[in-house]
Amino acid sequence: MADASAQSSESPPRRPGRLGFVARLTLLYLSLAAIMLVLGLRVWQTTEQQLDTTDWIAHTYQVKAEIEAVLARLANMQADAFGYAATGEEARRARGSGQVPLLDTELGVLRQLIRDNPVQVRNVEALAKVVGAQRDAAIAAMEARRAGHDLTATLPALAINQVHSLADIMLAEEDRLASERRLRAERVVTFTRLLTSAAVGLSLLFLGVSYWLVRRSHLRDVAVRTSLSASNEQLAQALTETQRISDSMLKLSLFGELLQSCRNLDEVRDGVRGALGALLPGLGGRLALINPSQNLAAIGAHWGEHGVLAESVFAPEDCWALRRGQAYPLVGASASFTCKHVHWPNPDLPEASYLCVPLAAQGQMIGVLTLDAPRAIDADERRLATAAAEQLALALANLRLQDTLRTQSIRDPLTGLFNRRYLEVSLERELARATRRVQPLAVLMLDLDHFKQFNDSHGHDAGDALLVQFAVVLRRCIRSEDIACRYGGEEFTVILLDTDTAAALQRAEQIRHATAALAVEHREQPLGPVTVSIGVAVFPQDARTAEDLLQRADAALYRAKELGRNRVVTVESISGQAQSA
Ligand code: GH3
Ligand code: MG
Ligand code: MG
Repeated sequence: MADASAQSSESPPRRPGRLGFVARLTLLYLSLAAIMLVLGLRVWQTTEQQLDTTDWIAHTYQVKAEIEAVLARLANMQADAFGYAATGEEARRARGSGQVPLLDTELGVLRQLIRDNPVQVRNVEALAKVVGAQRDAAIAAMEARRAGHDLTATLPALAINQVHSLADIMLAEEDRLASERRLRAERVVTFTRLLTSAAVGLSLLFLGVSYWLVRRSHLRDVAVRTSLSASNEQLAQALTETQRISDSMLKLSLFGELLQSCRNLDEVRDGVRGALGALLPGLGGRLALINPSQNLAAIGAHWGEHGVLAESVFAPEDCWALRRGQAYPLVGASASFTCKHVHWPNPDLPEASYLCVPLAAQGQMIGVLTLDAPRAIDADERRLATAAAEQLALALANLRLQDTLRTQSIRDPLTGLFNRRYLEVSLERELARATRRVQPLAVLMLDLDHFKQFNDSHGHDAGDALLVQFAVVLRRCIRSEDIACRYGGEEFTVILLDTDTAAALQRAEQIRHATAALAVEHREQPLGPVTVSIGVAVFPQDARTAEDLLQRADAALYRAKELGRNRVVTVESISGQAQSA
């Protein structure tokens, strides 16, 4: 489950009150849009004002042109009128008269042009008045000529100057207005220029900041993505590693379970081959077991390809792992300290390596696991090999313990023969088998003669030595499938399978002779001769049950003792005597 504190340590904590990246960017772009809007409005306004000013300046020029036109018209009309008055040329009179309405029209146009300017309205009215006086004088002059009057009296002397000075006033007023408008236009342009510069500067600044914000966020994203992909990769690796380890653990525990279920060494040897081959693929291996006297180690199983040769039997002290009680070689160990039981380094495989792992149980070395590869053995393989060796040692120790217990439960510790309990069980089993197979089965009951005396003369230890040596005689005289037991004290029982009375008698005699021939020694001292008395009972003719058979054999033995010992008596012979008696 994800830890909240771990998560917060991964990403930088957000400071309270600070705007996030998107909010900051939005604010910047909104500000930029507002600036653009203001700037656009202002530019539009300026353009309008500019157009207006241009119109007004054009208007000024039009007014000025119209004043000039009025003056020119007046001058022309006067020239024609007074020319006619002086010369009497009719054409001039016609021209002069024709210009009168045009002069009025132009005055009308001028009035129209300046009607929204009260100053100029006043000026135009003054001008119109003087111009009207001049026009009227010119008309009067023409009228007087036609009537034949003197002209000079009707001419106003300074009137034309008045016209010009009034026109100049009007023109000056128009010039003033024009320059005022130009000044205003210039101010607007200057302000707009300043505003545009500021807006462009601010826009550039905002663009720069937003570029920096976007770039920083992008770089952060890239860094996060990079670290995320690195983390993903690490996670995937860790998962694969975990999978591999859990796989190995599973195989190891299965290996342990199987080993614990093995009932004997052969099963262990067979199991180890397959299981260790699967657990450590790519490694060859050998399992050497140390004998009970601890002087020899012999290869009990091997598997895989071997890059490093090894002795099949060697002295435990030839192995550094057995000597030191830990896996060998250590990482980077020198070739000069190679275990003597492996042939290493191998000139054909210069990269080859080997590893010996001791198998120890209850403080005793019981074997060594030797692994090798045509390459270096890695740390994981070492760990697995060590764990497998522990399981293996445990299983082997268990087997040894079981073996000891089993031996103790069925064997007599002094002679190594089977004990009485085992005899009884075996006899039942063998009788059942003999019945099934319709085969005879003989039971010999043996008792050493005058054993008490032997004990008394030579001591209890000598008696024990005799018992051991008699057991050797017994084993030698029977077949491997027959069963020899120590019934108790100096009494023994032998079960001879598939043996009738004649064969049993023969085998009993053989034992009796071998016993008589036994040269018993104790502490290098020869002891006196020993004899044995033997009773023989045979299934099925003498008895059909185990109990009866033992009783009958015992009775025959008793009979042999009675008859003077050192002899064999069969149940058959007792029955025969009884019958003959
Ligand atoms: P017989 O010829 O009639 O069989 O006489 P015997 O002396 O052999 O028989 P007896 O039953 O009188 O004596 C058996 C002796 O065996 C008595 C006992 O001290 C001795 N004995 C029994 N078990 C052991 C043993 O484990 N070791 C030794 N040394 N002596 C034993
Ligand atoms: Mg006895
Ligand atoms: Mg005896």
